[in-house]
Amino acid sequence: MADTFDVAVIGGGPGGYTAAIRAAQLGFKTACIDDWTREGGKPAPGGTCTNVGCIPSKALLQSSENFEQARHAFASHGIEINDLAINVSTMLARKNKVVNQNNDGILYLFKKNKITFLHGRGSFAGKDGTGWKIDVDGSAATQITARHAIIATGSKPRALPSVAVDNDRILDNEGALEIPDVPKRLGVVGAGVIGLEMGSVWRRLGADVTILEALPAFLGIADEAIAKEALKAFKKQGLDIRTGVNITRVTVNNDSVDVEYNDGANAAAKVTFDRLIVSIGRVPYTAGLNAQSIGLALDSRGFIVVDEQCKTNLPNVWAIGDVVRGPMLAHKAEDEGVAVAERIAGQHGHVDFNTTPWVIYTWPEIAWVGRNEQQLKAAGIDYRSGTFPFSANGRARAMGDTTGFVKMLADAKTDRILGMHVIGPFASELIAEGVVAMEFGASSEDIARICHAHPSLSEATREAALGVDRRTLNF
Ligand SMILES: Cc1cc2nc3c(=O)[nH]c(=O)nc-3n(C[C@H](O)[C@H](O)[C@H](O)COP(=O)(O)OP(=O)(O)OC[C@H]3O[C@@H](n4cnc5c(N)ncnc54)[C@H](O)[C@@H]3O)c2cc1C
Repeated sequence: MADTFDVAVIGGGPGGYTAAIRAAQLGFKTACIDDWTREGGKPAPGGTCTNVGCIPSKALLQSSENFEQARHAFASHGIEINDLAINVSTMLARKNKVVNQNNDGILYLFKKNKITFLHGRGSFAGKDGTGWKIDVDGSAATQITARHAIIATGSKPRALPSVAVDNDRILDNEGALEIPDVPKRLGVVGAGVIGLEMGSVWRRLGADVTILEALPAFLGIADEAIAKEALKAFKKQGLDIRTGVNITRVTVNNDSVDVEYNDGANAAAKVTFDRLIVSIGRVPYTAGLNAQSIGLALDSRGFIVVDEQCKTNLPNVWAIGDVVRGPMLAHKAEDEGVAVAERIAGQHGHVDFNTTPWVIYTWPEIAWVGRNEQQLKAAGIDYRSGTFPFSANGRARAMGDTTGFVKMLADAKTDRILGMHVIGPFASELIAEGVVAMEFGASSEDIARICHAHPSLSEATREAALGVDRRTLNF
């Protein structure tokens, strides 16, 4: 007889494995099904994030930033290095080790929480009296039944129309993490988060990197002042960023790729690269789920349709993470996983996209939470703004990292914080203060009155809060 579970999660990425852990903590008999496989046929739970996304990209960003520091910054500290070189295969092996540590960590968490992990592909096989029947293929071939199913099947890279990814000359985000040597000329299509991060990695290692972006504005999702500062910093580093690009033809040659396009002024241009990374976004992934057989509703773009609680159109079938609407971010997927498990338990799970932080792990890093100036203006909200540059922050000077600033936006009448935007060193860590402040409904004066350690980068946040009231102390 098929094993019966209270909760079965399909997909073991950050959304799925976190949902499974929370469901198990709440006392549910839980299974998690995931098909990602590493060398030797071993399971590799963690999804896109762990295997080809957040974790490996950050490992390469760290390695390449260390190289960049050694090449350009160490000398000013009196550290002299002769014969500096990058060994790409060692760097990639380290990255793979970090990924495998995370895979193993998740397998350990399944055991610790008494979750049944099934390595294979899950697909719906209908319904019986006790719940949803799910077939699992692969090494764990079986059929299980679950009272509640949580779909967390994630996303796949979006391809350029009529340009086949071979992960040799034309690379998606998986191939971009495996380039065996530093290309002399690297093209990147798409100046989004992934394009900027991958472009930065290979530029730091010595590639001439050109980023081709279709939209006329650079980093349109960020606050305009942040985007402007970022463009200045990236150009200074040597990234060649071209916006308003309309690609007309991509030709793969023996050892190069030609990209023909019309530029922002509609003039024809052609550029030749050794390799081309395509990073133009991601699409929801539901193939193999057999979703149509049970009548699961998808929207016109292929996302599973859910309400604000992540309920699908089917009873006791939930969906979370990249496969549903909302930001395609690992921590958004995790939070939805926790919230759904709690809702199944009759609790009130809570996810607020307005306090979901966004981070781009370039250097300087870029991070924000809440609304930016353009959005506040468009919504007709009266706000005040405070800004503080890292060039006036003692810790940033000591680090030699003075690019960028913190900007705080607060309601003009109530002073409630509406957004925080950071470009600068460790913006990814600094943004947490803005998230906490917004979740607690804090005012900019609350942040301005709180003692911040000296010297620390977080003092720039306090100074930006003081700036809302036009009383910065150190600028
Ligand atoms: C290069 C790159 C860098 C990124 N960096 C960041 C970052 O720094 N921070 C951030 O927040 N986000 C980042 N992201 C985005 C992040 O990876 C995703 O938002 C996140 O992984 C989504 O989680 P998920 O659980 O919804 O899906 P996924 O992580 O995609 O996991 C889905 C899992 O389900 C499995 N699966 C699919 N169908 C089935 C099936 N039928 N049966 C069994 N298993 C199935 C898949 O194989 C996969 O293992 C990055 C993405 C990329 C590509």
